[in-house]
Amino acid sequence: MKERIVILGAGESGTGAAILAKAKGFDVFVSDSSAIKPNYKEMLDGRGIRWEEGRHTEDELFSAGEVIKSPGIPGKAPVIEELVKRNIPVISEIEFAGRYSDATMICITGSNGKTTTTMLTYHILKEAGLDVGLAGNVGSSLALQVAESPHACYVVELSSFQLDNMYRFKADIAVLLNITPDHLDRYDYSMQNYIDSKFRIIQNQTEKDAFIFWNNDPVIIREVAERKPVATLYPFALEPRDGVKGYVEKERLVIDTKKGLFIMEQDLLALTGTHNLYNSLASGITAKLMDIHDENIRASLSDFAGVEHRLEKVARIRGVDYVNDSKATNVNSCWYALQSMTTKVVLILGGIDKGNDYSEIEELVKEKVSALIFLGVDNTKLHAFFDGKGLKTEDARSIQEAVGKAYRLAQKGDTVLLSPCCASFDLFASYEDRGRQFKNCVLNL
Ligand code: ADP
Repeated sequence: MKERIVILGAGESGTGAAILAKAKGFDVFVSDSSAIKPNYKEMLDGRGIRWEEGRHTEDELFSAGEVIKSPGIPGKAPVIEELVKRNIPVISEIEFAGRYSDATMICITGSNGKTTTTMLTYHILKEAGLDVGLAGNVGSSLALQVAESPHACYVVELSSFQLDNMYRFKADIAVLLNITPDHLDRYDYSMQNYIDSKFRIIQNQTEKDAFIFWNNDPVIIREVAERKPVATLYPFALEPRDGVKGYVEKERLVIDTKKGLFIMEQDLLALTGTHNLYNSLASGITAKLMDIHDENIRASLSDFAGVEHRLEKVARIRGVDYVNDSKATNVNSCWYALQSMTTKVVLILGGIDKGNDYSEIEELVKEKVSALIFLGVDNTKLHAFFDGKGLKTEDARSIQEAVGKAYRLAQKGDTVLLSPCCASFDLFASYEDRGRQFKNCVLNL
């Protein structure tokens, strides 16, 4: 029997890591301080993997040769600090899975747009017939796929929490979409710590690898200048300036790499809004580097169905469009949602504020919003910011109330947009729950 591997947290990534570790002959023990979901218990039991829930048994943990930590557990958690003190290496599931795969790894990170770009890239590669897996924050865990249904290539969505415990893993193609403040509570309230975490996406890359990044992001530009990545650089931006490899010109998307020139009319893109132009550019460059034929890229960029809860069109009712952007849990993503609107908007926002600065959307709200509906248990901060600015505001304590008020306030030709800027946990189980309840209410109007 090889050394003991302990897995902390039995969610999607932890369960997958346990299954892979077991398959590789390790002595595996899974420990979760909360209850483990029945489907994960079944997966562990089915493979004879020992587990515990509701506690961490010290003897089990501290005899580990290595620990694989769920991205949800902060580095500051006492159990992790104790492991570090005892010099027991703590790694992430992706780091572990990477050791057992020589597949091409396409890794996507950023503060916003990760899931959209990951799904879009996967869609292009899959439709073109590649043997590709979807992993990371979406799909089933990389470790599980490596253990039981390996692919030649993976598109992996990486959050900063996953990147934090990655050391030797290498992305063949790394995509960095943007960096705006988020999750700072996990980074000692230091923006630089968060930036360093995001830049782990390019660690271990060589000149044979590719680094695709947004060239209008001041943080990324500064860091690239300082870090001088060794990978081949593929910056993208809206304007064809400063040697960018992907851009927009004369309302056409242009990708210009050593693999040839790809051009596509912008209005054929399935995803709308400036932010999605960036996402389409990043996916398009990736696809070119993966040698996908232009006609396949064009077809997939134009028939992508989008991702649930991200600017998702729900219905048109009496001439009013209803759009579910429940995933907009920070102000920056609401800014992009508003920016992509071509009509007047009734905006539903609110929830748990993570230290929001609403001045970022103030201009767009004044320009496009006819009424604001504050949906939250505590709307004080929203009132403090928006009251007295000549805007119509209403409070709602439930999604039914919010949708009902929006229905009454919206005029024909308007859009009712749920783009909350906030987390959902005051009134909902999750942003998905919030989005689904919104859609149900709209469809019942
Ligand atoms: P993530 O997985 O990084 O949270 P998503 O693709 O789920 O990103 O999108 C989250 C929110 O961010 C959506 O509301 C969307 O409108 C917005 N968004 C998507 N792409 C971008 C981008 N490139 N820049 C800024 N905001 C974006």
